[in-house]
Amino acid sequence: MHVYGLLGNPVGHSLSPPMHEAAYSELGIDAKYVTFEPAEPALPQALHGAEALGIRGLNVTIPFKERVCDLVEPDPLAERIGAVNTVDVPSGVGYNTDAAGVIRAFEHHDVALSGTAVVVGAGGAGRAAAFALADEGLDVHIANRTVERAASLAADVPGATAHGLDALSALLAEADVLVNCTSVGMESDETPVPAEALHGGLAVLDAVYKPLETRLLRDAQEAGATTVDGAWMLLYQGVEAFELWTGESAPVGAMNEALRSRL
Ligand code: NAP
Repeated sequence: MHVYGLLGNPVGHSLSPPMHEAAYSELGIDAKYVTFEPAEPALPQALHGAEALGIRGLNVTIPFKERVCDLVEPDPLAERIGAVNTVDVPSGVGYNTDAAGVIRAFEHHDVALSGTAVVVGAGGAGRAAAFALADEGLDVHIANRTVERAASLAADVPGATAHGLDALSALLAEADVLVNCTSVGMESDETPVPAEALHGGLAVLDAVYKPLETRLLRDAQEAGATTVDGAWMLLYQGVEAFELWTGESAPVGAMNEALRSRL
């Protein structure tokens, strides 16, 4: 039996185990996906232990994505983002599949990725989204509550510009794509984006997936925009990790069903 797992703290409510185990079951793979909560100082030992125990792959979540990036061999994209959420344990290579999660979530909804993107937020998810969209050829504007953090991200992303949240209305008037990568709207009926700035020419992805229908997505729908909820990003970061680990095409439908039935 193969073992995969998740490193984070806390990981008790993670949806990754049922999502990945649905894939194993669908494809008849003899594998198990388990969660681990190591203390941060023990991360190097945890990674060595995983290798010694024959664990095939690890996902990494809050608060360890940046630290693990320093402890494995990050691929070029993960190195630029500065965060690893997927480790291929036998090779020691670290990936960031949140970036692919953003792109594949849009592709699933037939959104043409071109033109101008606004990324709201400059934390871990914001970094992944900004690099992913810039690599697709979009012009990226980053708006964040703390402008210095947006500026430091924009300095790393080719062609990107940095703004405060007060610039959102002006930026969105010219934009094709919007991604909310702040935690605003998580378990609350708030939005970081003024409703009147949204329009029918936008495709809007909210990284927040609790609730699935955030206030931002409701406002976007009312404005006639294409909307993509955060569970699609969560699904596709997992799909990408599964495919990196196994070399097989992921059973997206089964993984999606396992995920959505728990949200
Ligand atoms: P993070 O690194 O802690 O960054 C949090 C971001 O939210 C920062 O840009 C922060 O701005 C902003 N923020 C927090 N409170 C705010 C407020 N009251 N007003 C305005 N901005 C605020 O977190 P993260 O890992 O990037 O995650 C961000 C969100 O994305 C979370 O809800 C997380 O669950 C979600 N996420 C989803 C997926 C998925 O697969 N769907 C993947 C990763 C993350 P400052 O810099 O000013 O503090």
